[in-house]
Amino acid sequence: MTITGVIVMFSLGSFIGHVGPRLPALYMTRARGFNVRFPAHPHPIPLSPYLTQRVLHLRSFYWSSMILAAITLLFGAASLKWGSAPFGFGLWVATSWMVLSRVQSAVGGRGPPWTKEMAIGLQLVMNRASSSGACCVDATPVWFSNRIACESCDEVLDPRPRPDLGRPRSDGRIMGMLRMLISDGYPLAAPPDEDSTSEE
Ligand SMILES: [Zn+2]
Repeated sequence: MTITGVIVMFSLGSFIGHVGPRLPALYMTRARGFNVRFPAHPHPIPLSPYLTQRVLHLRSFYWSSMILAAITLLFGAASLKWGSAPFGFGLWVATSWMVLSRVQSAVGGRGPPWTKEMAIGLQLVMNRASSSGACCVDATPVWFSNRIACESCDEVLDPRPRPDLGRPRSDGRIMGMLRMLISDGYPLAAPPDEDSTSEE
């Protein structure tokens, strides 16, 4: 095999190894029928039990990618042994990188983009909005790209930036997919400065 052939096969392997395990989070909820309860991307999204459920679904897709990664690693091993070695090596490099970066969150560093803690946090904000301790009489918590705030009185209820929520992205299918592959679902906006919420 020529050096160009090796590079092409390695690139192809690493592309499939990078995209393959992420397919559930990339595709599963993007169809329009799955998103009738939500405003179109990138509009802010009102907190609701549907949104909490969506966060939990995305969390399970995020972790199910580990099963797909295991299958990809098996294919990579088979390819290393019996097929194209550069292709198998590419699969292994990309997939094991993903597995390592996701497993490291158990030890330290950045956690997954969607967590159970996040779903509980959303529920707590909703509970507070419907209780007597609400920010205003018509409390409507809405998730903006960089915070959860009340739509009626603008009070910041939670400084949590919004991750990708599985809606069809406004930047189109290809750019949306590219953005997802780069961000891996993490929020693109940074949380607001600490002192913006310290007045409470
Ligand atoms: Zn309010």
